[in-house]
Amino acid sequence: MIRTGIGYDSHRLAEGRRLVIGGVEIPHTCGLLGHSDADVLVHALCDALLGAVADGDIGTHFPDRDPQWEDADSTVLLRQVTERLTQAGWRILNTDATVVTEAPRLAPYIPSMRTRLAEVMGLEPSRVSVKAKSNEGMDAVGRREGIAAMAVATVCRASAANLSLSGDQ
Ligand code: MG
Repeated sequence: MIRTGIGYDSHRLAEGRRLVIGGVEIPHTCGLLGHSDADVLVHALCDALLGAVADGDIGTHFPDRDPQWEDADSTVLLRQVTERLTQAGWRILNTDATVVTEAPRLAPYIPSMRTRLAEVMGLEPSRVSVKAKSNEGMDAVGRREGIAAMAVATVCRASAANLSLSGDQ
C-alpha cells in the first residue's frame, strides 16, 4: 500500500531571530518567528508525513502552547514523526518540497538541507528533494514579510518496501 501526504507552512520574518530552514542555519538579516525555531520546511515535511498516514498534523502532536517545544530544534520533531510512522509499520519512500522566499537565495544551502533532512528521516539524500522559488514580488512572501514551504511525502507499508525499492539505484 502506497500513500501520499501534503504539507504547508508559513512563518513571518522578524529581526533578532536565527533563520533555520531544512535544519540548516542560514546567515541573513532576520529569521523566522515562531514558538520553535520556526523551521518552515521541516514543519511542512512533518505535516506531509503525518498526512500520508492520516495521523493528524504537527499541531496535534507538538502543541505550540507546550513549553517543551519553545525554541526547539524542529529536526527533533521530524525525527519523532519518522519514528511514529516507523512504529506504525510505514516506511518513507521519498519526500519533495518547495520553499518560497524572496531572500536570501537558498540554492547554495540546498545540498546541506537535503543531507540533513535525509539523515533525520533515515533516507538516502536521493530520496529527499528540496527546491526554492521566489514569489515574483507578489503578496506577503513577495514583500519579504515571511517565508512559506510546501511538501509532499510518499510512504509505503514496511512489508512492501523491498518490492518498492527493487528498482532503486
Ligand atoms: Mg510552523
